[in-house]
Amino acid sequence: MSYDDERDAAARAVTVAAALCAEVQRGLADAGRLDKADRSPVTVADFGAQAVVSHLLGGATPGVPLVAEEAAEALRRPGAEALRDQVAELVQRAVGLGPEAALKAIDRGAHPGGAEGRFWVLDPIDGTKGFLRGEQYAVALALVEGGAPVVGALACPNLPVDPAAPDGARGVLALAVRGEGTRLFGLPPEGAGARAAPPKGRPLAETVFCESVEGGHSDQSATARIAARLGITAPPLRMDSQCKYAAVARGDAQVYLRLPTRADYEEKIWDHAAGWLVVTEAGGTVTDVRGRPLDFSLGRTLRANEGVAATTGDHHAAVLGAVREVLGAKGG
Ligand code: AMP
Ligand code: MG
Repeated sequence: MSYDDERDAAARAVTVAAALCAEVQRGLADAGRLDKADRSPVTVADFGAQAVVSHLLGGATPGVPLVAEEAAEALRRPGAEALRDQVAELVQRAVGLGPEAALKAIDRGAHPGGAEGRFWVLDPIDGTKGFLRGEQYAVALALVEGGAPVVGALACPNLPVDPAAPDGARGVLALAVRGEGTRLFGLPPEGAGARAAPPKGRPLAETVFCESVEGGHSDQSATARIAARLGITAPPLRMDSQCKYAAVARGDAQVYLRLPTRADYEEKIWDHAAGWLVVTEAGGTVTDVRGRPLDFSLGRTLRANEGVAATTGDHHAAVLGAVREVLGAKGG
């Protein structure tokens, strides 16, 4: 079966949403407010992006439900009028949708997920901390079918097109289809893109790890001990959002480790579904830190899993072995 229509719908939806987010982020920079504690800009862009993606997917794939991070309840509350108006204006300009329809589009994201049928999975702004810092974030969208991602789209508006030229052009779309590989485009995408195929055969000691910027999202000191155990000397590449999966898919880094910082945290499916497919279809390997496959069939969280380990494939077993030695045989 072909996923061409779903792939094109996903690419279009994340591209429009990413443009909306980039506009808000530019406004933040212009106002000199990038690192203030005020979270309202990210809230506006989060809701706006979810409304846009939900609306476009509703048109392109009618009847396919959506699992998404946000709910419009927070915008309907008394006192939220200003936020609601800002969201409504952005969405109106992006896709021509009225205010009430925008709220309804956001609320379509309440699907519980599961093992049956197909549903879209969306993180409208993954890496909100990076977004506020003016750094990396992603609009992350996947189509899950029978409990496994089959289409994945990661729009990374601030990711350098050429990793060797970090100050050059920015904006990358990574697009993956089950059985068809991962392709990399600029943002907005044009042409056929380039196949993502990270080079193989790099010695383990020369690999680059990537991890969250946020120490609360991944145990950075444990990652450092694991890297040291493997003889890795390069400093970790720290980056917010699922841009880390895109970085592994194109070989900027060879390993992405997400080590639990609390035993009771359940990873959200929208933080991993698109990235999982982008790395897997590029020929890489993604498991949890215990080597188990990620199970997207259990609802809105990966409750059967513990953290994430994604690699270009070469040294997956060795990385998991070092994780086991550092974290202990079981438990965090
Ligand atoms: P990152 O940009 O890789 O640090 O990941 C951002 C994501 O981390 C957000 O979308 C949250 O859903 C997720 N997150 C929030 N708290 C935690 C936590 N304690 N452990 C792991 N991930 C978390
Ligand atoms: Mg997220």
